[in-house]
Amino acid sequence: MAALSTDVPIGVVGAGTMGAGIAQVAAAAGHPVLLWDAAAGAAQAARSRIGAALDRAVDQGRLSAAERAAISARIEACHGLDALAPAGLVIEAIVEDLDAKQQLFEALEALLEPTAILASNTSSLSITALAAKLEHPERVVGLHFFNPAPRMALVEVVRGLVSAPAALATVRATVEAWGKTPVEVRSTPGFIVNRVARPFYGEALRALAEGAAEVATIDAVMREAGGFRMGPFELIDLIGLDVNLAVSRSIHAAYHYDPRYAPSLIQKDLVDAGWLGRKAGRGFYDHSAGTAPPPTQTAAPAPPPQRIMVEGELGIAAPLLERIAESGIAVERRSGEGLIRLGDLRLVLTDGRAATEWSHMLDRPVATFDLAQDYASCTRLALAPADQTSAEQLQPAIGLLQSAGIAVSVIDDLPGLLVMRTVAMLANEAAETVQAGVASAAGVDTAMRLGVNYPRGPLAWAEEIGLKRVLEVLDHLRRSYGEERYRASWLLRRKVMAKGRFHG
Ligand code: NAD
Repeated sequence: MAALSTDVPIGVVGAGTMGAGIAQVAAAAGHPVLLWDAAAGAAQAARSRIGAALDRAVDQGRLSAAERAAISARIEACHGLDALAPAGLVIEAIVEDLDAKQQLFEALEALLEPTAILASNTSSLSITALAAKLEHPERVVGLHFFNPAPRMALVEVVRGLVSAPAALATVRATVEAWGKTPVEVRSTPGFIVNRVARPFYGEALRALAEGAAEVATIDAVMREAGGFRMGPFELIDLIGLDVNLAVSRSIHAAYHYDPRYAPSLIQKDLVDAGWLGRKAGRGFYDHSAGTAPPPTQTAAPAPPPQRIMVEGELGIAAPLLERIAESGIAVERRSGEGLIRLGDLRLVLTDGRAATEWSHMLDRPVATFDLAQDYASCTRLALAPADQTSAEQLQPAIGLLQSAGIAVSVIDDLPGLLVMRTVAMLANEAAETVQAGVASAAGVDTAMRLGVNYPRGPLAWAEEIGLKRVLEVLDHLRRSYGEERYRASWLLRRKVMAKGRFHG
């Protein structure tokens, strides 16, 4: 199906943050844009904001003055909804309210040509419900842009129960022609990104609630070991604790209170206190001027061991051994279960069992270490000693990682540590999304890379770690806590049993 030709006018209703961004994208792609907002002067104000954004692009040499003028001239701030009658596609970005959006679509259905497509930028409402009151509900689709729309590449193209395949194909091709990456998703709560991202916040909040580490340390580990651009708490402070909690609550309720999505009491407490994040000057962090950021827990320098014995294969953590060997520590090998022996201490890549459980099994002092997105280049790793492991017994493990150029954050004995349990839960949610036919594996991974900038798609990442290890992590978490929250997706288990893959 071909994209809409650039002479087809695009209607945009709602000229707030998202509407203005979408209008700019469509106009930059060459379409006439008809922009209308119920608030008097809002469409004109949006046009001015777009003009200022385009001016910055000209100043930075990203746009010529002639292109800037042409884009601006293509956007018309309309005085009434009627002016949108010639549009071949109308994208609404009004208030997030089912009644308001349904009424708008009814008015548009009466106004537009029968061939025109109606699209909603809703983040949380059902596309099926939005279309339900129309005579032709098949003309309604979701086009979920991300903020800021001109910069973010991802658009979730949302299929309602009766959305016409031709309408979906047309909007898909059209947003692609606008330079975006469309990912098709069946209309389900949170679509892909807002659903699959829940564990990124949920597991960090859980670790905090368990007292495994402080906010700044969890963020540092997620950035420096996990490769995420921002730590979960920094990100929630930016999004707003209230906004993030509202999304968590709405997903939790929408999936009939599935414990996988249970919101955090700590976060609710901060919201109750008015600590809403950056916008309030205080959230998980104190943002008031002159306040130093809280320190990250980093272990003091410890003497490295002279030699280590590696038993068996370390799998994804193998590149760590090269860094250790390069630092001059002798690395000896023998067959075994896949762990590092440092004298009496055993150092184990987490499989979801706590170090205390490992120590109990091996009858030795044990420390578990966390997942890194890239062991060859990570600058920090979390280490969790067993309750049976003394501070003195832990020293060689700290010294070992430090000699490889890695800062060490010693955290409390958290099953699955921070990065591994988060990635396992992200992959689990991604697998559930695929299993339910909401999106393809490739679609989920693309959406998470482009929509929230994850360093890897969760399913590709799980394959790199080894699906078997990821499943073990989940099964062990579930056993440790006895909670349904950590139940593994059947699709993931099935892939492990059949030695299958999500990709290719
Ligand atoms: P906003 O508050 O910045 O803008 C909404 C605009 O819609 C306002 O200018 C308001 O005057 C106008 N409006 C309200 N009711 C109207 C009506 N009945 N008819 C015409 N205009 C009306 O909101 P926003 O952040 O741009 O969000 C708009 C939509 O996009 C919502 O559905 C939201 O869930 C979704 N969304 C928001 C983001 C985001 O990060 N802000 C991201 C993706 C999707």
